[in-house]
Amino acid sequence: MANPIGLFWLKDDFRIKKNFALIEATKKHREVVAFFLYKKSKYEGQEAQKWWVSKSLIEFKNKLIGYNINLEIVSIESYKSFFEKLFKKKNFSIYWNRTYEPNYLKFDRFLSENFKKNNLEFNIFKGNILNEFHEVKKNDGTPFKVFTPFWRSAEKLYLEKIPSKEKTISKCKKKISFFSKTIDEKEIIPKKKWFKKFENYWSPSEENALLELKKFIGNTITKYSDTRNFPYLRGTSKLSPFIKHGQIHVETIWEECSKVKSYGTSKFLAEIGWREFNHSLINFFPHMLKENYSKKFDKFPWEKNFKNLKAWKKGLTGYPIVDAGMRELYSTGWMHNRVRMIVGSFLVKHLLINWKEGEKYFKNCLLDYNEANNVSGWQWVAGSGADAAPYFRIFNPILQGEKFDKSGEYVRKWVPELKNVPIKFIHKPWEIKDEKILKLDVDYPAPIVIHEKARLKALSAFKQI
Ligand SMILES: Cc1cc2nc3c(=O)[nH]c(=O)nc-3n(C[C@H](O)[C@H](O)[C@H](O)COP(=O)(O)OP(=O)(O)OC[C@H]3O[C@@H](n4cnc5c(N)ncnc54)[C@H](O)[C@@H]3O)c2cc1C
Repeated sequence: MANPIGLFWLKDDFRIKKNFALIEATKKHREVVAFFLYKKSKYEGQEAQKWWVSKSLIEFKNKLIGYNINLEIVSIESYKSFFEKLFKKKNFSIYWNRTYEPNYLKFDRFLSENFKKNNLEFNIFKGNILNEFHEVKKNDGTPFKVFTPFWRSAEKLYLEKIPSKEKTISKCKKKISFFSKTIDEKEIIPKKKWFKKFENYWSPSEENALLELKKFIGNTITKYSDTRNFPYLRGTSKLSPFIKHGQIHVETIWEECSKVKSYGTSKFLAEIGWREFNHSLINFFPHMLKENYSKKFDKFPWEKNFKNLKAWKKGLTGYPIVDAGMRELYSTGWMHNRVRMIVGSFLVKHLLINWKEGEKYFKNCLLDYNEANNVSGWQWVAGSGADAAPYFRIFNPILQGEKFDKSGEYVRKWVPELKNVPIKFIHKPWEIKDEKILKLDVDYPAPIVIHEKARLKALSAFKQI
């Protein structure tokens, strides 16, 4: 017979639909308590996420009330000591969904052993992924290192599994409390002014995730392969922060998108595939979270240049497309993928600054930050990753701007100093000779490095490895 109380450990799964652990807990128990562990130090260096998490907690707590489920927030110093106290209680069964990061999966193993040792019932479910990462392997049993064969195999495997019957959450008998020391979700809301701006762009909830998906499918998906590279368009789904926090499950995205057969749909689902690939990479090759995936990059002669790094972070490099991207990031907690590649390439190839600095800054500012995509994205850009862009392919920020933001609409939006600059100068304002239009280094900075010189320097640094 089931234990009287079902505990649901809420992590990045602020949803009702396809929340496998929560659904099972409400099926097995008449009384369920959801709990969220707030470890303050976890969010140091991950500041933007705090805003999304605090908003999601408020919203999800209200939603769960409708199912007679209390959401309790417990402030902790360490996960281990929290669970060591929990092992001593005996009146519950516990449920949670997997988080596909090596540290979390390692901790799951610790918990499994100890729940077993203490004769406590625990149940771990599939998290926000299409396939469990270890299910997708080459015929010889080794992990894929190249995306295309990975995705061919992953897609096939996933298609063989569906359709699975959709289960729903049940309403509990009555709302109860479980933990004695809890905190109010408002205590997590950051006081900083920086986050206030995010409210103009985002509204974290499961309903909004589903709505954004519906809009994307209705307006964009069939054209996605044409629109996805242009940052001035609404040409991508902007679902990434919702996916990160589990407001939508990737299976739901797959199911809804698959109803629209088009080249754009396949291209879009392949991007979801890149997310799967990155999760597979960090779990099979966890050294890449801290170090270069490719060891030969350990000898790369990176430069330490605090002034240039600061100019990059602040969007003051003198290259309009780079500066627009960095300012979009700071203002909205998100940046378009094409521009992430451009600013990333600029940092590691034009400034010769280690990709780890960029990874750290993105981690702090991105609302969609996740270990797998961020580390893999940065190592892809740097050339040190698996299936990465070759280091010698150096993006020219002027040509990238002219190609993907031809009229300068994106630049004008995020770099208002350049609002009145004619199109022919919008991606190379240093060529303006008329000070009535722009005074270089007064209205807008002169380039901090010269593209051609920086390119040659990067190529010669690359030759050293
Ligand atoms: C340097 C760098 C850092 C990045 N850091 C992150 C990060 O921390 N978190 C994150 O979610 N993405 C990251 N990306 C990948 C990508 O930029 C974002 O997922 C994408 O811009 C999100 O916007 P969207 O939801 O509109 O994407 P869409 O184009 O609508 O794609 C749908 C979904 O597919 C996934 N996806 C799309 N592109 C990629 C990609 N290139 N790699 C992996 N998954 C992808 C995302 O989950 C995305 O939400 C990074 C890319 C680079 C180059």
